[in-house]
Formats: sequence, structure tokens, C-alpha cells
Amino acid sequence: MPAHRVRSIERVAEGVHFVEGPASNWIVLSGDGTASLIDAGYPNDIDLVRSSVREAAGDAPLAAIAVTHGHSDHTGGINPLLAEYPGAIVLTGDDELANVRRDVTYQVTAGAVLPHLVKPRFARWLRHAIQAGGLQDVAVANPTGLADGASFELSGHRVRARTTPGHTPGHTAYELVDERAVASGDALVTGHAVSRATGPQALHPMFHHDRAAALAAAGELAREWADRTLLPGHGPLLRR
Ligand SMILES: [Zn+2]
Repeated sequence: MPAHRVRSIERVAEGVHFVEGPASNWIVLSGDGTASLIDAGYPNDIDLVRSSVREAAGDAPLAAIAVTHGHSDHTGGINPLLAEYPGAIVLTGDDELANVRRDVTYQVTAGAVLPHLVKPRFARWLRHAIQAGGLQDVAVANPTGLADGASFELSGHRVRARTTPGHTPGHTAYELVDERAVASGDALVTGHAVSRATGPQALHPMFHHDRAAALAAAGELAREWADRTLLPGHGPLLRR
């Protein structure tokens, strides 16, 4: 089982820090006197998220959290952070709003996991997911939607939203334009607790809302982003 600590914080570029958390990752951006996050860990990662923001961005107040998708290992820290920074906004893809609000839930089901639990790595993953608060209510009340291709700034960094459906209906990746890096979320990862593979890959099919679309998207994105630094939702940073 992963220990409850950050595996690494790596500086990707000026004002861009990639945090490989215990089981899922987040990114701290800073640069215009504010800090922003892309994703926010499991609910019980909140202290790790807070301390990584301080380490990467000092006392800069949190201005925004951009969310790749509404799964509890990516949205878990949002509500406690909003309580602390009531002015912060939450952004996600237009088609992911309902999942982030939890009007609907597109998340791996017990029925999909059950047949795999005879395998130790799946059992370990599930135990960690539960201990990390993966079953807690993570509904976010008022996220703001982004269209595919929308350009905006996060703490002084130019960002472009890219809808990458399959893992969830509105999964959204965030391209850091000037850094030639992409926060690929769960559309393209570089590792996962249930996977033996290393390097760019799709998550295990059981995690996807639309398996065929997710696998096709991962292949396409791996080619399209072959020269981009990958900041994935799971697995280590891949510099290019
Ligand atoms: Zn996910």
C-alpha cells in the first residue's frame, strides 16, 4: 500500500510544480501573486495538498482549481480548500460539470472491481482508495464550465482546455502552452497501482465510462503529445 506521503514534488518550469501524491497527482501553478491547482488529490490527501502548495507557492492565495474530471482521487481536496479560500474558482470541462457536481456519478462500480479482487495489486489499490476517503461525498457546488479549446490563464500561465472524453464523458486535459506540457489527467497516464506497465498508457478498462473511446483517445493523445512533457493523473512525470 502506498504510504500516506507525497512521492515527489518536481519543478517542471518556472511556477509549475508536479506533485506525485500517494496514489494520484496534482499540479501547483504560481506566478502572478496567486497559486492555482490542477486537480486536488483524494479527500484524505488534503494536508499533503496544502503543504505542497505552500512549498511550491509560498503564501500566495489560491485563486483557481482546474479539474480534469469528477473522480474523488482528483476532486477530494476541493471543498476544504474552498472553505479556506472562498474566492477561489473551480473550473472543469462543460461536459464534466454534472460529474463534478455529482448530479450524476461516473465512477468505477463495485461490480466492475469485484472480479479483479483476487489479484493482490487490485486488492491493495482498493484498500488504499477506501482509506484515502475515496467513498466520501466530494460534490463541488459551483464549478465553472470550459468549452473544448478554451484559452485562459492560471496564476499567470497560459492554459488551453482540451476535451478528452472516454474516461469520463467530459474529461478535460490542460495544455500549458508556453511550457509545452500537458496535464493529461486520466486520459493518458504513466503508471497506476493496478498496472505493471511503465510509460504512457491508458488506465485499466474497468475505470472508464466508455472503454472503447478511452482506449482510442489514449492512443491518439500519446501520438499527439509525443513531444510534450506529460503531467499525468497517475504515475510519474515524463519530461520531453
Ligand atoms: Zn479518474
